[in-house]
Amino acid sequence: MLKASIPSQPTPASSAAAIALVDEHSTHNYHPLPVVIAAASGAWVTDVEGKRYLDCLAGYSALNFGHGHPELVAAAHTQLERLTLTSRAFHHDQLGPFCAELAELAGMDMVLPMNTGAEGVESALKIARKWGYEVKGVPANEATIIVASGNFHGRTITIISFSDDPSARDGFGPYTPGFRTVPYGDAAAVAAAIDETTVAVLVEPIQGESGVIIPPADYLPALRQVCTEQQVLLVLDEIQSGLGRTGRTFAFEHESVRPDLLILGKALGGGIVPVSAVVGNRDVMGVLRPGEHGSTFGGNPMACAVGRAVVALLSTGEFQQRATELGAVLRAGLDKLVGQGVVAVRSRGLWAGVDIDPALATGREVCERLAQHGVLAKDTHGSTIRLAPPLVIDQADLEWAIDQLAAVLADLR
Ligand SMILES: *Cc1c(COP(=O)(O)O)cnc(C)c1O
Repeated sequence: MLKASIPSQPTPASSAAAIALVDEHSTHNYHPLPVVIAAASGAWVTDVEGKRYLDCLAGYSALNFGHGHPELVAAAHTQLERLTLTSRAFHHDQLGPFCAELAELAGMDMVLPMNTGAEGVESALKIARKWGYEVKGVPANEATIIVASGNFHGRTITIISFSDDPSARDGFGPYTPGFRTVPYGDAAAVAAAIDETTVAVLVEPIQGESGVIIPPADYLPALRQVCTEQQVLLVLDEIQSGLGRTGRTFAFEHESVRPDLLILGKALGGGIVPVSAVVGNRDVMGVLRPGEHGSTFGGNPMACAVGRAVVALLSTGEFQQRATELGAVLRAGLDKLVGQGVVAVRSRGLWAGVDIDPALATGREVCERLAQHGVLAKDTHGSTIRLAPPLVIDQADLEWAIDQLAAVLADLR
């Protein structure tokens, strides 16, 4: 028998105590910076000791609208007191409006609501396979899906089966078959990999975890064309790139292509609840029938209410505009650091990958020093740091963050 009474843990009052407790009792599957956040508002967070930091990661873009956006918090509060969960065994009054509003935002007609990004990706893969068998006529169990090198689509066994990051993949086999990897940004390689078993091409319009890698401008249009010609679904994972981050509602708008399936997550839950979705048209989404896919929490009333508020925020274009304007400020500031410890900058909207001169420091070292300067950012792939502040950040704060990066690099030189 387990102990009947478990002594309650006080909320740690110091960073050291909080980190010690995590080290002892939380699995070590992350290597966080030694900052213990206790509260936040807008683009700023406060640690347990009262020190403030500017959040330049924004929950990997889950916090596009900042911490505690009043309209999102209000939507959550209202729904919290009305109805939180029904399961999909019954209808509830938020699901229909959420799906209709999100479909409208994406210019398509059907939505499959899920919770995490990885579930959204898994769901899109299932839809694509089923479509392949039922509509395209691929022989049973032979469907293939083409993916890109350097991809990040989540952490389930199937998804890591087509990752090429050894730390994401090694030790977790056997892997799910049915995927072919080709170089990212190379549409000819995709065309060459397609055969009669191919049901989908799955890519990120901009690779986030890989370091904000922006493909050539003709990449998505070429993928669209070959997918249309070969009767293959173009599936875009916009979990990180979507919902305002790049200066458009969706990154695919920069190249004026339209996907067959669009996967959303992260900011769709407003930083409050996990909400993901697959969006598509009836001819594809219609392959799912009752009992064939589901989720206890997918499309729950809280998720839908917050998701509706997110869609409402995006419907004015104000955040997309801010991402464009502040993105130009960010880019101009970062470009000035090239040669000052930065070897390359890639950005779109308010989203940048900054390659640090590996001779100077690792990305991790730069992020640790940035934190000491009051700026939170995240390294990726050794020497790259990623900047994705909330779209509500003040211009003066953004400029201050860039100054802090300049100061860190000057210290290192
Ligand atoms: C974060 C992310 C995912 C996975 O989302 P989770 O909510 O962590 O499962 C999938 N694809 C992309 C592009 C992401 O950035």
